[in-house]
Amino acid sequence: MPRDPRYDILFEPVRIGPVTAKNRFYQVPHASSTGVDMPNTRKGLRAIRAEGGWGVVCTGYCSIHPSSDDTPLRYSRLWDDDDVRNLALMVDAVHEHGALAGVELFYGSSMTSNRTTREMPLSPSGLPMLRAAGRGQFPLHTRAMDKQDIRNLRTWQVDAAKRAKRAGFDIVYVYSGMNFGPYQFISRRTNRRTDEYGGSLENRVRLLREMVEDTKEAVGDTCAVAVRISVDELMGDLGLQWHDEGRGVFELVGELPDLWDLKTFGFQDSSNARYSEEGYQEPYVAFARQVTTKPVVGVGRFTSPDTMVSQIRRGVLDLIGAARPSISDPFLPKKIEEGREDDIRECIGCNFCYSCYHESVPIRCTQNPTIGEEWRRGWHPEEIEGRASSDGVLVVGAGPAGLEAARALGQRGYEVTLAEAGTELGGRICREARLPGLATWIRVRDWRQGQLDKLPNVEIYFDSELTPAHLLEFGFPRVVVATGARWTTDLADLRSVPVPSTFGGRVLTPDDVMAGAEVVSPVALFDFDQYYMGGCLSELLAERGHRVTYVTSADVVSAWCGNTHDQWYAHNRLVELGVPLVTGCFVADFDGETATLSGRSDGEVRKVEAATLIVVGAREPHDGLYQALAARPEDLREAGIRTLQKIGDCDVPGAIVHATYAGHRLAREFDANVAPMLLERTRLDG
Ligand code: ADP
Ligand code: SF4
Repeated sequence: MPRDPRYDILFEPVRIGPVTAKNRFYQVPHASSTGVDMPNTRKGLRAIRAEGGWGVVCTGYCSIHPSSDDTPLRYSRLWDDDDVRNLALMVDAVHEHGALAGVELFYGSSMTSNRTTREMPLSPSGLPMLRAAGRGQFPLHTRAMDKQDIRNLRTWQVDAAKRAKRAGFDIVYVYSGMNFGPYQFISRRTNRRTDEYGGSLENRVRLLREMVEDTKEAVGDTCAVAVRISVDELMGDLGLQWHDEGRGVFELVGELPDLWDLKTFGFQDSSNARYSEEGYQEPYVAFARQVTTKPVVGVGRFTSPDTMVSQIRRGVLDLIGAARPSISDPFLPKKIEEGREDDIRECIGCNFCYSCYHESVPIRCTQNPTIGEEWRRGWHPEEIEGRASSDGVLVVGAGPAGLEAARALGQRGYEVTLAEAGTELGGRICREARLPGLATWIRVRDWRQGQLDKLPNVEIYFDSELTPAHLLEFGFPRVVVATGARWTTDLADLRSVPVPSTFGGRVLTPDDVMAGAEVVSPVALFDFDQYYMGGCLSELLAERGHRVTYVTSADVVSAWCGNTHDQWYAHNRLVELGVPLVTGCFVADFDGETATLSGRSDGEVRKVEAATLIVVGAREPHDGLYQALAARPEDLREAGIRTLQKIGDCDVPGAIVHATYAGHRLAREFDANVAPMLLERTRLDG
């Protein structure tokens, strides 16, 4: 299909200093937890965005010197010539598809504790570590930089920029956001200096000015020099704000770099969809184009081409920045270009991808199971091998695992029958997308449903709760069971091991609540799952007027959500709703009127009034169908069922990301001779 002319503006080239981006789609720097150790994986996941039509594709943050060592997190680096070769792999692959390659040179200052290199960290005023690689405070301060340290930093930036140029990069960053490098000089919060680098805004911007000038002089003949900057610290007048010093920076150096890459601060720069809409940064970044003639890129979880066009036409941005939308759908630009907007696999804003950064594991995505698997498994997000047999396949259960398996098997050309007990597709997605803040999650279902609608070889049956007798009668040669999991009422012992609960009274699970079971106030909700469910249900019930006490075995509300950038918001939301929070406790007893809690460390007993106890903890596979069939190999043979497999939550209960991956993997490996997975054991040294 031809491109909708409304979107032509998105495909205009944009001049960025000495280079030109072929369109306005800009994959901004984002961590992928591949670092120097996985150069091929990094190459694969960056190049796929270039192949998918992004005009610019950047690396993740790239350290310029050993005193900017962010271990145990995985970062790129340009410390020496080995690192040049290491990164050139990615640059060459990006160039093959006609995209520009960008590198976000970064200096950690008091954000990187140099655990591996053991260099002393440097910062403008010798403050303590501001963050210890996503793992809380670290017992180390920084050394206040003297003039020689500042000269050294400028030299390290120049040396790294020259290496970046040798690696082939087209856009070289000075990273001045989120407390990194020169940003610590700009912010009054971290700069207490009294010399020419402290005091007035002009003085505090001096280092940024010098680093941009140095970088331009070093590589600016062929490379564009970009500045990524936080324009608002989101702390009101305690920090820098877009309308005062944020704008002031632009008034001082707005014309200096070739490109401005704008962001806000902290968790807000990649805000979880639970607490933000598409385009959420606009109020903070919209001023910039009034104070600079240089092109401006910014993010906002943009997946709608209309929103993108609006950002450009209204003069908010020149380039549409994306990290997550490009992970969820590397081919987003191509799909718009080919008039296939309906095929865009929209990011749901769950931030599972971000959790991988915090946990130092290669990137994963709920919507796109192929991200990070391009090199080691050879998976392509749009292409898949044709079928290897003419076997008909029955997939039982249409949650994310069954849907993805049916979709990808259908894409391979298999005749697929998808049977679902309920009246709609989506499984757990349908229930969970109705919880507060999770509406975007329905996209996991919607995208797959849209794709299945286009596959004439996939038939879908609703209201079809299949039994072993049905399956033996149907005699499909290949059966895939994806019947999900159920929450249990198991409680947890002191070491968080689930133990059966034997209480009387009204004890409910999340499944019960989502299915509409009667909840009687007051409610005690005990959360030892520690991901989003406990917080979401507490919010839901409080909004419905219930008196809820949130109890968790962890030290904070929704502890694991620290990895997905919404723990703090989940906490605040419950506080706003007046939900009492009890942390570090277990449920020792419940009699229908009172929940007795026991402190994890002190054993102290507390009583909470509760007519309903909701337990958010363990899940168990809903695998009765599979187990019943697996126990009857003779009957299977007689019925002509040659393979019986289980996937997703019915195999191992997990997050949605695990279910879509399991469904996809099953389809990829169906009838296939699976090559051993490529493992990157060492960094590429030459
Ligand atoms: P997953 O996350 O693994 O995809 P879900 O719980 O989201 O699991 O989805 C499982 C789906 O399987 C649900 O839609 C449920 O209605 C369906 N299902 C469960 N048992 C049967 C059955 N016996 N026959 C058909 N569908 C079933
Ligand atoms: Fe979007 Fe979630 Fe995928 Fe990240 S993991 S790109 S937030 S869908």
